[in-house]
Amino acid sequence: MEVSRDMQIQAPKVPHLVILPIPFQGHINPMLQLATLLHSKGFSITIIHTDYNSPNPSNYPNFNFEPLPVGLSDGQVRTKDLVTILCILNDSCQAPFHDRLSRLLLDGPVTCIITDELFYFTKAVADQLKLPRILLGTSSATFATTMASLKLLRQNGLLSITDGQPNTLIPEIPPLRIKDIPDIGMIDPDSFEQLGADVLNAMRSALGYVMNTFDGLESTALAKIRQDIHPMPLFAVGPLYKFSPGSSNSLLTQDYSCMAWLDKQAQQTVIYVSFGSSASFDKRDVVEIAWGLANSNQPFLWVVRPGSIHGHDWVELPKGFEEKTREKGHIVKWAPQQEVLAHPSVGGFWTHNGWNSTLESICEGVPMLCCPYLLDQNVHARYVSHVWRVGMQLENGFDRSEIEWAVRKLMVEIEGKEMRECVGALKENAMRCMAKGGSSYESLESLIHLIMSL
Ligand code: UDP
Repeated sequence: MEVSRDMQIQAPKVPHLVILPIPFQGHINPMLQLATLLHSKGFSITIIHTDYNSPNPSNYPNFNFEPLPVGLSDGQVRTKDLVTILCILNDSCQAPFHDRLSRLLLDGPVTCIITDELFYFTKAVADQLKLPRILLGTSSATFATTMASLKLLRQNGLLSITDGQPNTLIPEIPPLRIKDIPDIGMIDPDSFEQLGADVLNAMRSALGYVMNTFDGLESTALAKIRQDIHPMPLFAVGPLYKFSPGSSNSLLTQDYSCMAWLDKQAQQTVIYVSFGSSASFDKRDVVEIAWGLANSNQPFLWVVRPGSIHGHDWVELPKGFEEKTREKGHIVKWAPQQEVLAHPSVGGFWTHNGWNSTLESICEGVPMLCCPYLLDQNVHARYVSHVWRVGMQLENGFDRSEIEWAVRKLMVEIEGKEMRECVGALKENAMRCMAKGGSSYESLESLIHLIMSL
């Protein structure tokens, strides 16, 4: 569809932002939080979203929603790896996104597109329609710098990891070990590298880069990104969920029964267990998790997500487990996680270290037991345990005795107490960064200023 030039250059009365999230929970959350925040600053918002994992428009009565047909099913997503899915999404979204955007431009001007950084195809569409583009990174700054360092080390032939053991430290990128490298053990490392190259290439022409983090947590990584990696303006505006509270972007129904259960528990005694929206396990792992929790004798709130065991729609817990833990435990299929972490009864979070979960735990002052599943989660787990010192990592997979030992260490022993103190200090840092004059507050002001100047 052709769009007249006059239409593109005419300034909108209320700045109009077109926002395109990647359709996965960990990407939808920060993008819709950013959209909510920008709407509260007076911007008009159109969310263009895939018909796979669509957000619920009735939760956002002030936004305009435009669906994109991509023909992706749950079955397809389950059988393919993340990199392949991202490539499929980039391919299948390009034509319908161009079409939708062109139609929107017939109705009135668009100030700017804001997309997930992994939607590299948007560069071509934005160039064709002569629209500025701002990117949102949904992982940590530390992960971004790790990927850049790995690329450089490989290019210069300096990364010799073939003869090391998984626990060998990589001296150039401490404290990461061989087993923490994000692409280690990938089915197809070449397609991962290609994805990285496509994303970097598409970043070059973007007007700005928004990150869901804060200076008080990742100042070194943010400085490195600014100096060495991306010359465009970088806006560290996190933690986004704190600026726009509420969990209305959840794709699964959140079970609030756990809040009343938490009300009945003593302060900081409950370990909250959740591995995010996509990690999946073997049946044996779930049995070990269950008995490890039961034997720890600590109160627990466990999110057992349907589909989280390979090849099964529902998760069957071991015989005798529910009877044994009736007094101590509560199980839900999906929780209101931000509210749970903010509850005074919660004293620890056993997590897969997706970036949202890691950030939410830090910003609620909850120390972590880390069990990374893939990619950036490995890097976050290592930083949580060895740099920020707000958690400890389960290193040897799932074993009930080790789980029992680790849960008790986190929840009742001196190590856990020290981690709780460190995470409390980071929580305060986050609050300082968000307050007027703080780095996240100021970055948000600069972002708004940039958009208003278009
Ligand atoms: N989440 C939730 N309820 C749950 C588990 C997770 O609302 O029971 C939310 C959580 O608050 C976070 C997101 O889902 O914002 C998960 O994102 P993350 O980056 O941690 O992991 P991913 O799901 O992408 O692996």
